[in-house]
Amino acid sequence: LTQGLDVLRELPCETLDGHRLPLWVNTGLLADVARAQERGAEGVGLYRTEVPFMNNERFPSEKEQLAIYREQLAAFHPLPVTMRTLDIGGDKSLSYFPIKESNPFLGWRGIRVTLDHPEIFLVQTRAMLKASEGLNNLRILLPMISSIHELDEALHLIHRAWGEVRDEGTDVPMPPIGVMVEIPAAVYQTRELARMVDFLSVGSNDLTQYLLAVDRNNPRVADLYDYLHPAVLQALSKVVQDAHVEGKPVSICGEMAGDPSAAVLLMAMGFDSLSMNATNLPKVKWLLRQIKMSKARELLDQLMQIDNPQIIHSSLQLALRSLG
Ligand code: PEP
Ligand code: MG
Repeated sequence: LTQGLDVLRELPCETLDGHRLPLWVNTGLLADVARAQERGAEGVGLYRTEVPFMNNERFPSEKEQLAIYREQLAAFHPLPVTMRTLDIGGDKSLSYFPIKESNPFLGWRGIRVTLDHPEIFLVQTRAMLKASEGLNNLRILLPMISSIHELDEALHLIHRAWGEVRDEGTDVPMPPIGVMVEIPAAVYQTRELARMVDFLSVGSNDLTQYLLAVDRNNPRVADLYDYLHPAVLQALSKVVQDAHVEGKPVSICGEMAGDPSAAVLLMAMGFDSLSMNATNLPKVKWLLRQIKMSKARELLDQLMQIDNPQIIHSSLQLALRSLG
């Protein structure tokens, strides 16, 4: 980095030809808050609520959750904080709620668990809504949606939670609701899903795993796990286009968004914001400030013609190196 972190923090994420792209952070631990602020994040694109659940011996009560969520919302206020409802199962387990399955990534995880246990979902969404009273910077994000029916059910529960907290005297508006696009089925139903919510957020970690049938945590197939695979790039590009046809903003919150060279392509596709680990934010901002959106679009067009993932990688590196 040629500019110091302090200087960079104050500068907008803007290309040489004036395209603005908000950079958000992913959080979970309380320590993430300070790091995000140091680096000038413009919001939280993904607060992984399972992190405080994992650091506990039992399900946190509504009151306990309220306090934890309030801390997040207050720390970033007035910036938006996108809170994802509990996403356990797969690789994320709770000692006090064991899930034993032979195929956990294709099993009971994310929204599937909480729709089967509406009491968990209702307690959590009520805590989020109450935590947001007077701040109103909450957005709620739903993980692992694979059908319209699941989204319908989840929206119904959120409305119920909202009614309940209002009956108890909490005065909060309905927050923006979003869906994670991280299962291939959701890619093909982007338009229908987008119509039902306020925003979308792509989870490229899971989407890559499910599109390529490659376990995201298995070192033996790590070489095959590639978010620049042409099928992944096509899926991402389709999601952005379909979301925009419905007039809805779309973000991306997988690890890919924090890879500076991949971020150039995501910007070119038209993502409305990128959400990443705070550590990567300055690198991404630095690179995006060095290039033109028009160049990024040309580069994306070229790379989308290539069918060999290796060549996509090397061409991308080469093109970016020539930019300096
Ligand atoms: C993703 O799947 O890309 C994502 C952001 O969620 P997680 O990594 O928590 O599954
Ligand atoms: Mg995921």
